Amino acid sequence: MHNDIISLENISKQYNKKDAFVLNDVSLSVKNSEFIALLGPSGSGKSTLLHIAGLLDSQTAGNVFINGRNTAKISDNERTYLRLTKIGFVYQYHHLLQEFTAIENVMLPMLAAKVNSKTAREKAKHLLKTVKLDSKFDSLPSELSGGQKQRVAIARALANNPVLLLADEPTGNLDPETAVLVFEDLIEIMHQTQMSAIIATHNYELADRMNKKYFISEGRLLEK
Ligand code: ADP
Ligand code: MG
Repeated sequence: MHNDIISLENISKQYNKKDAFVLNDVSLSVKNSEFIALLGPSGSGKSTLLHIAGLLDSQTAGNVFINGRNTAKISDNERTYLRLTKIGFVYQYHHLLQEFTAIENVMLPMLAAKVNSKTAREKAKHLLKTVKLDSKFDSLPSELSGGQKQRVAIARALANNPVLLLADEPTGNLDPETAVLVFEDLIEIMHQTQMSAIIATHNYELADRMNKKYFISEGRLLEK
């Protein structure tokens, strides 16, 4: 429905003309505060789906509606603005900028959205506290553990108060114990902010704690 946070309608994706379809007529809607797990074997199309949902890649067919707006029918500038202010993306690998401190990495999306630097700094501190990094504001990524880097990446994704968080195996590079701790934080943040989320994961135990589970296989999406 077009009043959902995000609605993927009949999405198909083929990377190259001679290749098989990675996604084949996939539809998925996410309501306010809904927390969705995306499961599926490696190579099944989880990242492809998240990239299309996050407007980071284009679909071969179908439409992506965000807050009721058809993203195919808006200008590139508007799409960039939507991506920056409505969607937070967390990758499996943190993708932090190595030469910037934790606080600066979290400030960057706010500065890009023209938030003034004092406000951005205060918000970044608040977000880093939320992910339990009070003592690491001025640390460089190289001075942080894997779990801490991923926490900074989560704080960065939340910087512009997105309505939708897309996370691509966000704890996939962490040891199992750290993965659970980071995930617990993520669940707590979701409850506090009432954001919606789609999280690709291989961890069925963690997926069980979300509102819905979808499984991708052979280009199709099934609700579990
Ligand atoms: P998952 O995230 O579930 O592991 P992906 O979405 O990364 O799966 O990949 C799904 C399929 O699409 C795989 O067969 C992969 O090789 C292919 N694929 C992904 N990205 C590209 C690309 N940029 N160009 C061509 N094929 C790609
Ligand atoms: Mg992937």
